[in-house]
Amino acid sequence: MINPLLKELSNNNRIPPFDIIKNSQFKEAVIFSINKQISTIEKICSARSKPTFRNTIIPFLNSGNKLTEILSIFFSFCSTDLTKERESIRKELLPTISEHYSSIYQNEKLFDRINKIPEFKKNTELGIEQNRVLHLLKRDFIRSGIDLKIEDKTEYRKIIKKLSILGVNFSQNIIKDEKDWIYFLKKKDIASLPKFLVNDLKFLAKSNGKKGYAINLKEALILPFLKFSDNRKLRKKVLKSWKSRGLKSGNSEIIKKTIILRQKLALLLGYKSFSNYRLETEMAKEPETVRNFLLDIWDPTKKKVKNEISELNRLLHIDGYLGKIKPWDWRYYAEKKREEQFNFNEDDVKSYFQLDKLIEAISYSCNRLFNLKLNKVDMNAYHKDCKVFEVLKHNQRIGLFIGDYYAREGKRSGAWCSTFKSQSKVNGKRLNPIVLNVCNFSKPQKGMPCLLTFDEAKTLFHEFGHALHQLLSDVNFEMLSGTSVSRDFVELPSQWFEHWLESKEILKKFTSHYKTKKNISSKLLKNVISSRTFNSGFDTTEYLASAIMDIKLHSEKPISNPIKLEKKYLNKIGLTKAIYPRHNLAQFQHIFSGGGYASAYYSYMWSEMMDEDAYSAFKETGDIFDKKTAKSFEKNILSKGGTKEPEILYKAFRKKLPDPQILIKSRNL
Ligand SMILES: [Zn+2]
Repeated sequence: MINPLLKELSNNNRIPPFDIIKNSQFKEAVIFSINKQISTIEKICSARSKPTFRNTIIPFLNSGNKLTEILSIFFSFCSTDLTKERESIRKELLPTISEHYSSIYQNEKLFDRINKIPEFKKNTELGIEQNRVLHLLKRDFIRSGIDLKIEDKTEYRKIIKKLSILGVNFSQNIIKDEKDWIYFLKKKDIASLPKFLVNDLKFLAKSNGKKGYAINLKEALILPFLKFSDNRKLRKKVLKSWKSRGLKSGNSEIIKKTIILRQKLALLLGYKSFSNYRLETEMAKEPETVRNFLLDIWDPTKKKVKNEISELNRLLHIDGYLGKIKPWDWRYYAEKKREEQFNFNEDDVKSYFQLDKLIEAISYSCNRLFNLKLNKVDMNAYHKDCKVFEVLKHNQRIGLFIGDYYAREGKRSGAWCSTFKSQSKVNGKRLNPIVLNVCNFSKPQKGMPCLLTFDEAKTLFHEFGHALHQLLSDVNFEMLSGTSVSRDFVELPSQWFEHWLESKEILKKFTSHYKTKKNISSKLLKNVISSRTFNSGFDTTEYLASAIMDIKLHSEKPISNPIKLEKKYLNKIGLTKAIYPRHNLAQFQHIFSGGGYASAYYSYMWSEMMDEDAYSAFKETGDIFDKKTAKSFEKNILSKGGTKEPEILYKAFRKKLPDPQILIKSRNL
């Protein structure tokens, strides 16, 4: 049988045929595509003709397409449905893959040819993109050690290989610790919990073959439990277990090794620290800039948190406890405070937020802004829970979109956006992207709609913002397409789009009670909107604590015990004992499950500075659906991908760069 992975997998009208792809076929397909790419590159290198964009860059870029396509499927399978079999295939393949990419970027003959290609002189759209591709490729080669001595090159490759294995082990340890932990609750433990949560806890017990109720370490259960459980001891137990994920299985050692290796890598390439290396390609450029940016917000945040603490202490004392609020109390009393101040609880709100309606809201917003439409189509993705849509612009299909929204065993926690194919053009003809959004919402029981908390609804919009960046991309080269931008720019479209969920018009139009079908009352709506910055001291603190640790660990000399340092340092800069960092190091997947956000976790807030400012551009017109502003946002940012430096793209839209002070205002610090 011919391996289906080696045939054409998708096109403008079709997603990959997931149902006929078998796990056992990945290895063959990956090795075959690697070898094919190697032989194409050899051909490019041995050509006698003068190197040009057409005879060198184009075939080089194309040579990697098949491998990228196969890997996007394989890695998606691993993050959404990790089985023992896939785990062992991944372990086997990763070193080969990372070795392959390292060897491409250390191929001197190839670099030599690329280096000789003259810049495109004419300032046409294609010319600008070609020059950008050339610039980025050269930069990639240099950052991957092309200029190193032979023995250093070997060392570089060794480090990269080790890092990729450490990253995988880090995630696996967390999944393992999560799997090992389940706690069966007594009837009295659920008395204070809202119905939706009780249902989920019952469902979990049942799927473990028991009667009653159970909780595990999935975020979708933990966070509401901490908010609503009136059992202080149990809250402590649950939060402590959640915050210890990764520790039991040995992530402390992985963190230590990872930081040392990253530092080694940076020094080898001639940088002062890993942060200096990492930030070279970002908007922020220097660790000093990031540190100052974060600390500038840290100070007003501390003041705000002080006020929040004294309010929560008051509620704690009313309940008859002495002493101060602890991390396992925070969400519970904050929820009480919210109810007191805004007169609604999460359960009230959740009944109005139905996943399907919110997808309609996304389609509606995109229609008003960009003339887009989401149409559900009858295609099967890799799991029966996935929903597949075609995305139309002025009724022309511009891409396919897959939503994989429900939590399940084997799915990585969190939410993300990726592609099975990124947008590009061949001879001017557009190849549409196939975009995937993955979330971890609790799957509804039969006959029930999927109900979301307000935060989950925000995540839904957030990930679709990334999808928009991919779907509206209009560039020639896949390498520059959609979200192929610096990490501190990539969260701009996603966080920007969250604002539309928070708008009065959308909330009014697309929220209706799942039972009574009644629209959300204007009083509740008003309260939901005005509670937007409630608890912002807490939110900002837990985020900043993680971001500050990330930049510290990667910009300074590696130390022997990062976990110990975490406590000591956060204490030194005045982190209150009432709040844990959003990610304790042992479960900080953004920076240790691969290098994605290493030394770049600050990007969320950096992007937020821009998304707030970009949203202001819409508000200033008096209409958040203002077509002219939307057109400019699409033309200058969403469609442009990474074709220009982010500063240039942003200034083309807004004429100036934003000021960090906008965050202090928008977060009400
Ligand atoms: Zn994001």
